[in-house]
Amino acid sequence: MDFDTIAAISTPLGEGGIAIVRISGDEAVQIADQIFRGAGGKQLKDVATHTIHYGLLVNPKTGAKEEEVMVTVMRAPRTYTREDVVEINCHGGLVSVNRVLQLVLNNGARLAEPGEFTKRAFLNGRIDLSQAEAVIDLIRAKTDKAMNIALEQMGGRLSKLIAKLRQEILETLAHVEVNIDYPEYDDVEEMTHRLLEEKAIYIRDQIKKLLNTAEQGKILREGLATAIIGRPNVGKSSLLNSLVQENKAIVTDIPGTTRDVIEEYVNVRGVPLRLIDTAGIRETEDIVEQIGVERSRKVLKEADLILLVLNSAEEFTSEDEQLFKAVEGMDVIVIVNKTDLPRKIDLEKVRDMASSHTVVTTSLLEEEGIDDLEQAIADMFFRGELETGDLTYVSNSRHIALLHQALDAIEDVITGIEMGTPIDIVQIDMTRTWELLGEIIGDTVQESLIDQLFSQFCLGK
Ligand code: GDP
Ligand code: ZN
Repeated sequence: MDFDTIAAISTPLGEGGIAIVRISGDEAVQIADQIFRGAGGKQLKDVATHTIHYGLLVNPKTGAKEEEVMVTVMRAPRTYTREDVVEINCHGGLVSVNRVLQLVLNNGARLAEPGEFTKRAFLNGRIDLSQAEAVIDLIRAKTDKAMNIALEQMGGRLSKLIAKLRQEILETLAHVEVNIDYPEYDDVEEMTHRLLEEKAIYIRDQIKKLLNTAEQGKILREGLATAIIGRPNVGKSSLLNSLVQENKAIVTDIPGTTRDVIEEYVNVRGVPLRLIDTAGIRETEDIVEQIGVERSRKVLKEADLILLVLNSAEEFTSEDEQLFKAVEGMDVIVIVNKTDLPRKIDLEKVRDMASSHTVVTTSLLEEEGIDDLEQAIADMFFRGELETGDLTYVSNSRHIALLHQALDAIEDVITGIEMGTPIDIVQIDMTRTWELLGEIIGDTVQESLIDQLFSQFCLGK
């Protein structure tokens, strides 16, 4: 395909000290040569592909020296976009990288639209649509774990699985076709039904499996909703602050849902948490009891994890007991705080109430026990299936929607067979399943959808 040459700032993942201006297109090397002065007059057009070169950038009009840079030359097709790519690495931060970009744009490149590099990779056939979408997730990934999933998806795990399912469907459809055209057996109708049903059930189960992992993918990108609950003054806000101070707060673009609930995003040993301090509910309300309880209930219902805080320096109260009841059946970690003070709480009773839940003792004032709590959170999280490395995670809402539609279609196939619907009708539903799965990897997708998707990308990818 024929495209013009584009450029953008492409900050590396992890945002190190180096910034990169990436140029892609037929004229990438030529544009770079106009502004690059290599050692001994070396020209980039003469260098081998996939090599890196030290030099200065100059303004060709004025001859002024602009930046000290390292330039990487990568020729098509072994590049991200499958076009000639030049990457200019500069270590001077934002101001200098912007200057470099300006220089590149003034010498013949066009500023890339958001996601345009990845769009080209897709249009030039280097990656499929679900891989492209994984790049979006990668850019947005808030934690290491989420990043691993995005990377895996980029490696094409999901694509491969979907492609395999589609192949199965195609083969089944072909089989059915043959059986209908060449009825060599008397019981061909029954055979066809049996084969179809068997395959349809297999495909349904595979789609269901993918959808099960979807829920986990979602949790990872948004953080486990973690509610901190407890009576007033037990140390809820202190706990929230400790966790935020100890851990890198996650910068998020997800807006808080409720204003009067304090929310913080943190990464606790690889587990992304959205911490919700329900203390705010009580403390900002005048007629606390009714409204407070009502809202707490709502927060509780939406929580994935509960941190129930008790005060070690006070007796176990009936209000504490009510809180235990309110979180029955949920994932709970019980925190007995203020262990630096003389103990009044009956720990035996607490363990009884907690039953199978983990109990951790802390003194937030003296910064004790926080490690244990973090370990308990990580254990609880990774004890689940999430640790299994061989899962294919689906973490993209468009994929999830399509998988649901595909599931509906394949269920229609199964019901159709069970109800003795004519084969050609069943075939239609089977074909629809194939098409819907194809949309996930971009095989049967329309142009407008592609544009819509790529416009979501950050600049420079
Ligand atoms: P909340 O009402 O549950 O949010 O409780 P806060 O976090 O606001 O804490 C209530 C009071 O208890 C504050 O004065 C805290 O400094 C104090 N506090 C919190 N944790 C501890 C602790 O471990 N030991 C002691 N002695 N005081 C604590
Ligand atoms: Zn508080």
